[in-house]
Amino acid sequence: MAVHPQPVQAPERVLSTLNADGSRRWIRPRPSPGSWWTRRRVLAYVLMFVFFAIPYLKMGGKPLILLDFPHREFTLFGTTFLPTDTLLFMLLFVSTVIMIFLVTAIYGRVWCGWACPQTVYMEFLFRPIERALEGGFRGSMRLDRAGGIHRVRLAKYAIYGLLAMFLAHTFLAYFVRIDQLVRWVQGSPKEHPVAFLVMAGTALAIFIDFTWFREQTCLIACPYGRIQTALFDRDSLIVIYDPDRGEPRSKGTVDRAPGAGDCIDCGMCSRTCPTGIDIREGLQMECIHCTQCIDACDEIMTNIGQPAGLIRYGTQAELTGRPKRGLRARVILYPIALLVTMGLFVWNLENRATTEVTVLRSLGTPYQLREDGTVVNQVRFKFSNRNRDTRAYKIELSGSPDAQLIAPINPFPVTGGHSLTTTLFIVSPRSSFAAGERRVMFHIDEGHGFKRTYLHRLPGPADGDGRREGGERPGHEEAEKPAAGSSH
Ligand code: SF4
Ligand code: SF4
Repeated sequence: MAVHPQPVQAPERVLSTLNADGSRRWIRPRPSPGSWWTRRRVLAYVLMFVFFAIPYLKMGGKPLILLDFPHREFTLFGTTFLPTDTLLFMLLFVSTVIMIFLVTAIYGRVWCGWACPQTVYMEFLFRPIERALEGGFRGSMRLDRAGGIHRVRLAKYAIYGLLAMFLAHTFLAYFVRIDQLVRWVQGSPKEHPVAFLVMAGTALAIFIDFTWFREQTCLIACPYGRIQTALFDRDSLIVIYDPDRGEPRSKGTVDRAPGAGDCIDCGMCSRTCPTGIDIREGLQMECIHCTQCIDACDEIMTNIGQPAGLIRYGTQAELTGRPKRGLRARVILYPIALLVTMGLFVWNLENRATTEVTVLRSLGTPYQLREDGTVVNQVRFKFSNRNRDTRAYKIELSGSPDAQLIAPINPFPVTGGHSLTTTLFIVSPRSSFAAGERRVMFHIDEGHGFKRTYLHRLPGPADGDGRREGGERPGHEEAEKPAAGSSH
């Protein structure tokens, strides 16, 4: 007879999403529609609306937010950032991190409970649909106990799939212009396979997240949740249970033990918790500070004629009876650091060059030898026009009378806020090359004050007898760089 090994039981408390034998513990939180829940719901629908609307909004003729990776341009609130804006990106990133530290130090996990897309979409979109279809919290529990895949659950998965596709398309609209996205949606996936795969992968990830992974994103995957202990202090605002008032617990409302606290051990605070914990065990990493247990307990307290607030917003200091400190080191230092980084960001943004020119080497063959004894070099210019209006860039050779510049379009027009690359050709006598190169100076004039001269080395035959510009011998000179000029 086959002997089945007994599942190993964990000797102590495990993650709230696991049973003691390591199997998944499905959490079906009971809704607690109290005053905090109403406020969170209003905010959640506002946030959803903002997320759906942003791809359609414009500022200064540009998308409000567009992270255009293929063209390496990020547009935020009407300002376009280019790959050369690394310093600005770094300052923005550091400012965002400091802001998170500051908000967490003061308001705890307010982001997790009130604004994180994981919480917002789970609690105010996917979970309500689930409850509506499955017959509420009790209906979901019944289906869990029945096992198998019920047709109601299949219908739920179908709706979740459609929602996941919609959210994935909206997400994609932050990386692709909305008109382009609409064209893609109307066309065949074969015409844009990469974009289609990105959308399908995102939709699948969203579907798996809200169907199966759920609260485990907060407990296991999210790095923010795991660094809370480093960001909190004893005066950070958190959701607390007041043990001085609640303990010792006494079950029920009749025949209560003498000296019993206000907690009637009804378990409603745990049953409503979306991460499946018991707030009465103190501050826990799994608590996303969603306030659902506050609403649940307040309702119980009201029903038994006790004041609300056994579970409430509070601080660890309050629980230990220590005086409240509004100002402490991190609440002073973080804003100072934030002021410095944001100040540097604004200063750099205001003072960055309105035009950026990059001289690029040719693609393919470095040069061509023609029968008439001349050498043809290809040179590419990339213009980044950060002005709002179109600018035309005139390119001329400076100080090289023996060389001829051939450009298909000159001056070269570039629309405001865009980057464009143009290719031009330089024809020089073979004799002007020495040791496999010659130097030329390009002068750029945009007509509104931007004037610059760029030194560039052209590769050529090694047997030329020309002298280098300025009489220098070939050496270790680095690649092209601005030689002179002004930046605006
Ligand atoms: S313990 Fe309360 S505040 Fe924390 S996650 Fe659970 S219900 Fe939300
Ligand atoms: S909801 Fe309130 S009364 Fe009920 S168990 Fe939780 S803390 Fe105690």
